[in-house]
Amino acid sequence: PARLISDRLAHWASELPDTPALRYQGTDLTWSQWYERCERLAGALGALGVGRGSVVATYDKNSPACLDLTLTASGIGAAHAIPNWRLSAEEVAYVLNDSGAEVVFVGAEFMKTFDSIRDQLPAVREVVVLGTDGDVEDQFDALVAAATPAPITGAEPSDTALILYTSGTTGFPKGAMITHSNMVAHSEALSDYFQIGHEHRYLLAMPMFHVGGTSPGIGCVYVGAPITITREATPEHLMSGLPGATHAFFVPAIFAALLQAGEVGAKALSQLQLLCYGAAPMPAPVLRASLATWPNARFLQVYGMTELSGAVVALDDEAHRNPDHPERQSAAGVAMRGTELQVVDPATLEPVPANTPGEVWVRGGTVMAGYLNKPEATADTIRPDGWLRTGDVGHLDDDGFLFISDRVKDMIITGGENVYCPEVERILAEHPDVLEVAVIGIPDDQWGESVKAVVVPKPGATVDPGGVISYARERLAHFKAPRTVDVVSELPRNGAGKILKTVLRQPYWEGRD
Ligand code: ATP
Ligand code: MG
Repeated sequence: PARLISDRLAHWASELPDTPALRYQGTDLTWSQWYERCERLAGALGALGVGRGSVVATYDKNSPACLDLTLTASGIGAAHAIPNWRLSAEEVAYVLNDSGAEVVFVGAEFMKTFDSIRDQLPAVREVVVLGTDGDVEDQFDALVAAATPAPITGAEPSDTALILYTSGTTGFPKGAMITHSNMVAHSEALSDYFQIGHEHRYLLAMPMFHVGGTSPGIGCVYVGAPITITREATPEHLMSGLPGATHAFFVPAIFAALLQAGEVGAKALSQLQLLCYGAAPMPAPVLRASLATWPNARFLQVYGMTELSGAVVALDDEAHRNPDHPERQSAAGVAMRGTELQVVDPATLEPVPANTPGEVWVRGGTVMAGYLNKPEATADTIRPDGWLRTGDVGHLDDDGFLFISDRVKDMIITGGENVYCPEVERILAEHPDVLEVAVIGIPDDQWGESVKAVVVPKPGATVDPGGVISYARERLAHFKAPRTVDVVSELPRNGAGKILKTVLRQPYWEGRD
């Protein structure tokens, strides 16, 4: 394996100098052009005083600059932090301060927001505008063009290369320190499953502030596969990035949106050879419709976390379509290369037998160095022997397939019984009038918690709460069926497309616990 990802960029620049490497908004760079640009960027960063131990940040939607900075800043020993641009100004200020960024690359369209928090960022000493928006003009291209190229060297494999923040699904985002060796381990494992090479093209449409955006992008640099970057993952942006693409990763919400778009959505992905999905539970009807709509694609589910530098478990295409094991369609998959899995009883911290639920623990080369500035959270999450506690409940079957039941924090305990929300959601997702559903626990004086379903009706349909409850009671143990149903027009989601159950629960729990 290589020591640093930036070494792989140098490798492809010399092995495949004139082969396409990076495409963005109609402009292509070859590997040698991309490498030259990064060497100039290394010179520019050096001139800005960035070196080993520094932190730079990018506050923008996706663009090649973000990947340039990940490769180059990390290659010279600095770390690259990428705050979620969907956060509020105050939250971005928190993340930038937490990261310790000294130099911030700010998308032109975010300059107004950035200016409003500028005086709350004492550590920031340089600001560089990325791209042009109205009166705000790009500074990045000129900075790079004027710089004297410098070698992209100085980092050690154990240095933090990336500071990526968790999605903030269960609380406030935490910064995960991802090292070069984490990224190399992840890239090696991913290459087994992606089966992507020079003759393919990866569509990087997921946000790069999320591990699902950045880590496959890095994996493609590792194996020398060309990448198309789109600024966002909206249908319009996706369409513009699709020509020539063969491999892609999307969160389940994107599949649902494309299926809703009918013929246009179906056509959009029809040329893709690999359709990878993960980061949140995939609703069964969406998976079934996707398998039917894109019959020629290889489907790959991945399970992972920011703290694990990306995916560590994968469910390959065969397991999606194995008539002998239909239950595997709802598995997260098997451990990837370099990953060990175990399921542990949270009370005794001892491993449980196969087919028994417990907390999923992961060990391997992709386990982050720790949470930035959070030694206590790090000690709670990473055991001294290297096992990382995922905070997810699940079980392993006899053949090593991992099934994720729920997050520990979302699981409902009602009258002493555990209810795994996704199990109830899977049933309700099949209801003919239901488009989307989230199940949450709300306080109940008698049972401790009671099960509530929050439901979005299909376009034109009306959902009758009583009907939903009896539908569930016919198909599930009564304690698992919702006692109450809320009908809403939309579910709150975070920037990674995940449903924010904290937001759904909040009005019910206000002033308690
Ligand atoms: P936070 O930790 O800030 O609350 P988050 O856990 O959503 O946010 P991420 O690191 O982006 O932040 O997501 C990791 C989590 O996503 C996992 O712990 C798991 O709960 C969920 N997840 C990832 N992949 C899958 C998958 N294939 N199926 C079901 N859930 C998944
Ligand atoms: Mg998490």
